[in-house]
Amino acid sequence: MQRVILVRYAEIHLKGLNRPFFERLLVDRIKQALEPIRVNVEREQGRIFVYGVEEEQLKDSMERLKRVFGIHSISPACCVDKDWNTIRDAAIAETKELVQNGTPMTFKCFARRADKRFMMTSEQICRELGHELLEAYPNLSVDVHRPELKVTVEIRQQSAFVYTKEILGAGGMPVGSNGKAMLLISGGIDSPVAGYMIAKRGVVLDAVHFYSYPYTSERARDKVVELAKLVSRYAGVINLYLVPFTDIQLTIYDKCPSTETTVLMRRLMMKIAERIAKDTGSLALITGESIGQVASQTIESLCVTDDAVSMPVFRPLIGFDKEEIIEKAQRIGTFETSILPYEDCCTVFVPKHPVTKPKVDKLRESEALVDFEPMIEDAIAKTEKLVIR
Ligand code: ATP
Ligand code: MG
Repeated sequence: MQRVILVRYAEIHLKGLNRPFFERLLVDRIKQALEPIRVNVEREQGRIFVYGVEEEQLKDSMERLKRVFGIHSISPACCVDKDWNTIRDAAIAETKELVQNGTPMTFKCFARRADKRFMMTSEQICRELGHELLEAYPNLSVDVHRPELKVTVEIRQQSAFVYTKEILGAGGMPVGSNGKAMLLISGGIDSPVAGYMIAKRGVVLDAVHFYSYPYTSERARDKVVELAKLVSRYAGVINLYLVPFTDIQLTIYDKCPSTETTVLMRRLMMKIAERIAKDTGSLALITGESIGQVASQTIESLCVTDDAVSMPVFRPLIGFDKEEIIEKAQRIGTFETSILPYEDCCTVFVPKHPVTKPKVDKLRESEALVDFEPMIEDAIAKTEKLVIR
């Protein structure tokens, strides 16, 4: 008997001729996620099998796999020879811990036979195994509609697999199956969630963060690095670009209409992000904006922000309420870090009365009051790159 984790794919089956590419990519992602643990990952007929996980590593391995996009669900299983007595013994052993304490429990058997040469049909397997389990554990009874315990046997080409748990994975597509995009990451709640959602669609993430020493602290920067790290648990390696933004921000503050400072700042962030994106192979920008959340996220403001760049801007949270975003942030594990109190550069320079309906032409004019080009170039030249993993 051998322990194995059985992995089912999410959407990969939709991909027709590209399927082998997606499958190989998913195998690579699984290997990366389990890198600290020595495992053997194999692919067979629409399933992936992870062999070599020791009992004491099982919990950690399962947690890691739950963060791999492209996985529909996982089952810790035992892998045995395709001999009926062996399969039966394995099923009895596998359920032992769950039914041992003697409290009444309902169950149902499931069987899948990928190897049609196996001497019993799926139906026969279920029936036989049902009998055996009833005999082994008197506290069990059958309930085919709402069983508390599901015992599944899969007969495949090489071996048979027995398991009792099916745990949902993260869904989505393997990272790397859909190009690369640049996440504008602040220290807030929204942008890490936005990055997560785009990575879930198979997109590799890079990230850019704008900071304003000494108006923002070292700790605010550490917080962003930490957030990027948390996102990278799902998205894989992230190149994080840290852009000094103080000069630009002070200049906007000094030279441009005070009601427009936030929107102008957002335009300049987008422009710089776009340049770095173009230089590093990202095809789109990602932000954590959602319609109406703050003055700089009215439809008018979003249009003015978009006008600053030609690259597509992905805003996966556009229709989400703050509460829904918080719920997601909690689920993916970024929330606690996001709410640490360190200020970010947007909050430091917020105008008292920001325009809520900025006009593109007007904002272009205000931006043209200053020649930002040398400052943009300087900021990019002083940008620091961290590789987050
Ligand atoms: P978040 O919770 O992500 O900080 P927010 O609700 O605070 O979002 P804003 O501060 O208006 O909203 O920022 C909107 C979006 O702009 C953010 O989601 C992020 O994508 C980007 N952004 C804001 N500040 C920065 C920054 N300092 N560096 C990089 N991107 C930023
Ligand atoms: Mg913010």
